[in-house]
Amino acid sequence: MSFDILLKGGMLPDGTTADIGISGDRIAAIAPSLEGEAGEIIDVAGNLVSPPFVDPHFHMDATLSYGLPRINASGTLLEGIGLWGELKPLLTHEAVKQRALAYCDWAASMGLLAIRTHVDVCDDRLLAVEALLEVRKEIASYIDLQLVAFPQDGLYRSAGARENTIRALDLGVDVVGGIPHFERTMADGRASVTDLCEIAAERGLMVDMHCDETDDPLSRHIEQLAYETQRLGLQGRVAGSHLTSMHSMDNYYVSKLLPLIAEAEVAAIPNPLINITLQGRHDTYPKRRGMTRVPEMLSHGIRVGFGQDCVLDPWYSLGTADMLDVAFMGLHVAQMTSPAQMRRCYEMVTSQSAAIMGLEEYGLETGKRADLVVLDAGDPVEAIRLRADRLLVMARGRVIARRMRSPMRLDLPGREGEIDRRFRVPAPT
Ligand SMILES: [Zn+2]
Repeated sequence: MSFDILLKGGMLPDGTTADIGISGDRIAAIAPSLEGEAGEIIDVAGNLVSPPFVDPHFHMDATLSYGLPRINASGTLLEGIGLWGELKPLLTHEAVKQRALAYCDWAASMGLLAIRTHVDVCDDRLLAVEALLEVRKEIASYIDLQLVAFPQDGLYRSAGARENTIRALDLGVDVVGGIPHFERTMADGRASVTDLCEIAAERGLMVDMHCDETDDPLSRHIEQLAYETQRLGLQGRVAGSHLTSMHSMDNYYVSKLLPLIAEAEVAAIPNPLINITLQGRHDTYPKRRGMTRVPEMLSHGIRVGFGQDCVLDPWYSLGTADMLDVAFMGLHVAQMTSPAQMRRCYEMVTSQSAAIMGLEEYGLETGKRADLVVLDAGDPVEAIRLRADRLLVMARGRVIARRMRSPMRLDLPGREGEIDRRFRVPAPT
């Protein structure tokens, strides 16, 4: 066979070793050993070759705006919302677009090649929607960008939000969003879930709502979301983002709720970096962690993907476009420390999130699109532990980012040499 590019000796996430042959924008072959001609042969022996990172929950209209027009002093969700309200009238099409493109450069360099971003539609100009639709087009040759119409100030609470949501969908936004817990009453929140799911069903779209992002154990809009998903036949196309109130809910009620979510095939998207920072702010001590019940969801067969949510914006003053940071935090907060659970945390920033986004071209399989990332780690758990360097990023069969491994040299008496923080776990004896 002949390939454009042949990657030799990579470690796949499942622990096997394989060569990967790329022809055009496709994976032409994967096998333990591939012989043949290749335009370029790249030795990736001993390094993890993974499908790209996927961020199922982001806010690209706000990213890299940290400090504009001021910094969130309290660090709370509510001050962040207030701050975004101050910034919104000052946004320009060009500034939103340039910040988004700058962020996408970071993402591409980190092997983050699929992003679902919510975009605020509570601005009659729909300026961010138009800017991000342009960005989606400009980056289409290396990042899959999915847009969610997000009535951030409330579908009913904010004048014109429902109309703007429809307008945004008409313009080509992919997914229906919502924020039921931010409506004026629980009843309005429930009604907004019904309304938005009906809009999605009518248009054949997916749904992804900010749902119950609160410490209030009585915030139960997820129940309505699961119900409407069943009623409207939207199984497998709906996600609840955050779901932090579930952390604080009564255990008996949760024992009823988890099977309902599983039955409706509603996916969950916790955002560990943000949830651990923003939740529990009204607590003294003990202080709640505020992340939803991830291991319990998994044991009920609910699909879970970890999102990043924010990078340098009114709600979060850090962030690097590194989904390994997200997996690392999620693993800690959810106490998912067994080897199988740690591997699952890696899948929640790769394949599980790709499934939530419905990415059909995704995966390291013959015939799929040649998108991948090579990491300076031997396996997914080590990648999380090291927040490993990306050695190579490939999109549509083209190498779009590459770096040489450059180990630190130690200069200590008797301990000179290159530092390698990789570690091979000994096989059980
Ligand atoms: Zn969000």
